[in-house]
Amino acid sequence: MKEKIIEAKMEIEKNYPILKACRFCPMCRHLCTSGLLTNHESDFPRGRALIIYNIYKGEKYNEDYVNSIYNCTLCGSCRAGCEGNFNLPLLIKSAKQDIVNEGMEPEIARKMRQSIIENDNSFFIEKEKSFSNTLEFKNFVKNSKSENLYLMGQDINFINHEIAEAVIKIFTALKLNFTLLNEETHCGKVLSLLGYEEDAKKKAKILYEKILNSGCKRLIISDPLTFDCVKNDYPEWGLNLGSEMEIMHISQFLNEQINKKALTFKKSDKITMLADSEYLAKMNNIFDEPRNVINTVTGSKLVEPLLNKKEALATGEAAFIHNGEIFKFTEKLGEKICREARRINVQAVVTLSAIAKRNLKLCETQNIKTDNIEVMEISEFVAKYL
Ligand code: SF4
Ligand code: SF4
Repeated sequence: MKEKIIEAKMEIEKNYPILKACRFCPMCRHLCTSGLLTNHESDFPRGRALIIYNIYKGEKYNEDYVNSIYNCTLCGSCRAGCEGNFNLPLLIKSAKQDIVNEGMEPEIARKMRQSIIENDNSFFIEKEKSFSNTLEFKNFVKNSKSENLYLMGQDINFINHEIAEAVIKIFTALKLNFTLLNEETHCGKVLSLLGYEEDAKKKAKILYEKILNSGCKRLIISDPLTFDCVKNDYPEWGLNLGSEMEIMHISQFLNEQINKKALTFKKSDKITMLADSEYLAKMNNIFDEPRNVINTVTGSKLVEPLLNKKEALATGEAAFIHNGEIFKFTEKLGEKICREARRINVQAVVTLSAIAKRNLKLCETQNIKTDNIEVMEISEFVAKYL
């Protein structure tokens, strides 16, 4: 038993400087997505760091401690607003690994893990229901090598097929030589964010080999979590796609095509706001490309929320669990962004992920006082005005 505790402490020990900095620090409290949702001290950065400090000093995880760690939406707002550049989400991820090593993770995390391992999604949807399995999809899978490979990510592959259809429409309009994976498997990111690092690496290896076998030179990815995983986690996991391979988020690809003047649009006259993606903006510094896409399609009708880039509200891309159940505040997260959109009188909100689109759908239904706000993922937005 003693050995187990020492082992469980090991991952957080690797991040001791973060623990030391965060345990008494209140400076990013006002940015914390989970804390602002519940107002519980244990859901704010300092509360979490203090819990991890208690574990470091020899206390054992209990249900409340585990919930505090798993309630973190891993949105990166604390890190983005930290003057000392301390990576608190990394410490929280290491605490999750320790919790998993002790077998104390929430039951729902175990079920999500199983669902990803068996069906390549964390939503408990059968593999056969993926977009990868539709005839429409298979028509675009080429046997011969293709320069461009498109990856959807689990949200689009299993829930929001319409986003993949929009991307295919854009590629077709561009006469782009592209292909799709016959069966797109999970990149491993959600497993890693739930604390299952070894499972994540195993899942990642399967997708990595499929990407290599496709012979592509460029990967174009819709889902921000998948993009972040392939771009940043794969090299750390020893899965190097080579310096020759270009990895782009779809918004970067669209921006490139616009700069080349390869796309022309029927202009949208709607005042439009961008809902930034935490895994693109805060983790990968992708701010300008989606803005340029929106400004081009709307003829410079992009308006910015009053919050600055660091303070941008999280869309909930990595919010999976709350108090041992499936995360239930998705509507609240969406509503916060919608309120901001209403405040600056926008008519459309463009998102950079399927999950953000789902969470923001409330803008279309709850906007009682003004005209409805249209919510679209960026590929749908571009495809609509082609
Ligand atoms: S991330 Fe930075 S600002 Fe936030 S608690 Fe830690 S040291 Fe303080
Ligand atoms: S990652 Fe987000 S939810 Fe987690 S502690 Fe930081 S700000 Fe709070």
